[in-house]
Amino acid sequence: MGDRLNDLLARLHTADDLDRAAAVLGWDQMTYMPPEGNAGRGDQLATLATLWHREFTSPAIGELLDALETEYKDRPADDPKRALLHVTRRQYEKKTKLPESLVAEMQRASAEAYKAWVAARAEKRFSLFAPAFGRILQLNRDAAEAFGYAEEPYDALIDDAEPGLTASRAQQLLDALKQALLPLVQQIAEHRERVDRSMLIGEYPHEAQWQAGIDAATAFGFDFARGRQDVSIHPFTTSFGVDDVRITTHINPGFFPSGFYSTLHEAGHGMYEQGLPAEWARTPLGQAISGGVHESQSRLWENVVGRSHEFWEYFLPTAKRYFPTQLGHADVETMYRAVNYSEPSLVRVDADEVTYNLHIAVRFEIERALMQGNLTPQDVPDAWAQKMQTYLGIRPHDDLVGALQDIHWTGGFGSFIGYSIGNIVSGQLWQAASRDLGDLPDMIRRGEFAPLLGWLRTNLHQLGRTYSTDQMLRRATGGPLDAAPYIDYVQRKYRAIYGL
Ligand code: ZN
Repeated sequence: MGDRLNDLLARLHTADDLDRAAAVLGWDQMTYMPPEGNAGRGDQLATLATLWHREFTSPAIGELLDALETEYKDRPADDPKRALLHVTRRQYEKKTKLPESLVAEMQRASAEAYKAWVAARAEKRFSLFAPAFGRILQLNRDAAEAFGYAEEPYDALIDDAEPGLTASRAQQLLDALKQALLPLVQQIAEHRERVDRSMLIGEYPHEAQWQAGIDAATAFGFDFARGRQDVSIHPFTTSFGVDDVRITTHINPGFFPSGFYSTLHEAGHGMYEQGLPAEWARTPLGQAISGGVHESQSRLWENVVGRSHEFWEYFLPTAKRYFPTQLGHADVETMYRAVNYSEPSLVRVDADEVTYNLHIAVRFEIERALMQGNLTPQDVPDAWAQKMQTYLGIRPHDDLVGALQDIHWTGGFGSFIGYSIGNIVSGQLWQAASRDLGDLPDMIRRGEFAPLLGWLRTNLHQLGRTYSTDQMLRRATGGPLDAAPYIDYVQRKYRAIYGL
């Protein structure tokens, strides 16, 4: 009987190895590959994706799952072997429900949409992207029908990205965030001059920025013996296995926070990957719960820790060594306030903690309306401008800083909500860790990050996908997904900073 499990594991290992090999090629494509390598690399990645799909959806895996589910049915649901069967079954069903013709069609449409997106960006006109985007919308509707859903087609796509989440629950969470954050954005706008971040703008040499980021990431607990950092245009994290996790950063020599906080953000992602259970490596159980939970780790280290007063009490002396002229006269309070400067921006990736979730609400609500048939692709720029005006009080002057800014819509729908889930979960985990660990702020002040990382390892990282997002949160924090702790955190912090 152990043979069947070993057989399943061997098949899952083979599939995962193909996936990680693709990750190596993908990482290289974004870091060191010469520009002309693109076409060949695209072919190689497509081949590996096809091979992965063939391995993972083979009827043999379906048969093994059938037999093993019967064999293990009396074990508790959080028994790792039963959990392995559960998450593998879920992924297997998802992947086998999509007809191969639809998968191929989505790949083609996505490649076309990417070309159209690049061309539309050059002209700053969404209308040039709209036809290809309409095709993506139609295929997403087809995929939703193939997956199945309870209330609305968009649910199927949300559930694919954030297992267990529905569109209506996501909307409730966003509404709670909007209700709390909209007044805060307004109040801050009336007192913008109370925070000055000019000292962060100026000449910040690349090498010193790089080292400062490495120092902070090392202090947090990112293990450079099992990972490394390189440079890419858009920072990202990828994993070739628990012992080889790659992060990237993008350094702006004229603005200190870009590169430094990118490094802290990706280090947060990277520490999650390094903490996943080695005994379930190369299986779906040894992976992160969802994109949103992954984002909770990056946001927690970047913002909740890295933008805290306590962090700068600890780190400012180090930063001054790297930037003696730029920060030599800075005190902790000024630094703390400067890195928390808040202002509505047109571009999501530039957004701060107060405004970020409002950018997500814009995208989520537009996707939902498109999927419901209440909005057409041609009308997206108008809907975008209206929502930006309502939520952030600003309007894009062209589509490049409007509906054409994110690459996500060349692939599909459903992933944006993960960013807000990440913020929400970071608030919940921080609150629970503070309760469990006692003087967490004091630890950070002293540069002791191991207790927090240890808490995250025990309550999240080492569990892989044994639990769903809600189950993990119930165990770690006492309740399911809940926006209240994050709202409380943001309100307290920014009211104090801006004297509201
Ligand atoms: Zn991230």
